[in-house]
Amino acid sequence: MPEEEDEPMVKALLLEEVGGPFHVAEIQVDDPIGREVLVDVKASGLCQSDRTASDLGGFPLPAILGHEVSGVVAAVGPDTSGFSVGDHVVASLQSHCGSCGPCLRDDINMCERPEFVRRAEGEAPRVTRDGAPVTPVVELGGFAERMLVHENNLVRIEQPIDHEIACILGCGILAGAGAVLNASKVPEGATVAVFGCGGLGLAAVQAAVIAGASRIVAVDVTTDKLASAVELGATDTVNSAETDPVAAIRDLLGGADYVFDFVGRPEVTKQAYESVGRAGELGIVGLTKPGATLEIGIDAPAVWNQVRIRPIFNGSANFLRDIPYFVDLYRQGRFRLDKFVSRTIRLDEVNDAYATMRDHTGRTVVTFP
Ligand SMILES: [Zn+2]
Ligand SMILES: [Zn+2]
Repeated sequence: MPEEEDEPMVKALLLEEVGGPFHVAEIQVDDPIGREVLVDVKASGLCQSDRTASDLGGFPLPAILGHEVSGVVAAVGPDTSGFSVGDHVVASLQSHCGSCGPCLRDDINMCERPEFVRRAEGEAPRVTRDGAPVTPVVELGGFAERMLVHENNLVRIEQPIDHEIACILGCGILAGAGAVLNASKVPEGATVAVFGCGGLGLAAVQAAVIAGASRIVAVDVTTDKLASAVELGATDTVNSAETDPVAAIRDLLGGADYVFDFVGRPEVTKQAYESVGRAGELGIVGLTKPGATLEIGIDAPAVWNQVRIRPIFNGSANFLRDIPYFVDLYRQGRFRLDKFVSRTIRLDEVNDAYATMRDHTGRTVVTFP
């Protein structure tokens, strides 16, 4: 293992106050101990949840966000088992212990001890600035040239693909495609409707193609996003700014077998529920405001319809299983990950990129030389 030459300065994007902008700053990243892996970050995707997290706070500042990361292993701790210097890796926020009940049942999403991946109390912080601790949010901190993480937050990419494409597998793609493939397990021939065609929704459209869905209806208020959905395999589109999506889906399919709501607004969730056909399923993925509820009928016809409602967290994913699978599908041309990345930027352009993200179709990715 090559020794670090006296912890060189590392450029990172720091959040110093809740709701504030990110600032480029110099940090120091410790050497790996135990099962830690030091990663040279090559690409880091912008996820809306980082902007939301930085507006809400709830973690010690200063902090480094960024949780969609692809990079190359620069050094490994003495107890790591699965990684060597030079490995291409993708990071995940699915912190897990590997030995609790859910982990042993292959449900690392529900791990009971996600804090397992942190350093112990009393150990030096992984990241510092002028000697003071810096918080890598969700134990990653990918908006930086280097990142020190527990090996349980990494998966090796055996046959490397471009970093700016690989990084988006870390969060959005996993959650969107996982909703279709892992959570609802959409069967071949089923009909699917997707409400909200941002990154996650588009990944769900692509996953519905992979699952062999017979019809895929994309619903959004933005024509660009609907065009992207068609490019990825949607068979029909509904612009819900112009057309009532419930009536449109009832017209097209008589109700969809599987409807996925990625929007996160109660009135849209209600429309999505009403678009489900008999014995169909509503997958709720989009996060909505605290306290929001969904009111549904429970009279006899509603019961006879046997519509299921499934809240889906993180695509019911296991990133260790799913990311290599999606890389394989990408290499075969079956998962068109390249279509999801629409712009690459430098670290110092992140504030501007977040400001325009809501109107931007496709993923924005920070690349590092
Ligand atoms: Zn994310
Ligand atoms: Zn666990």
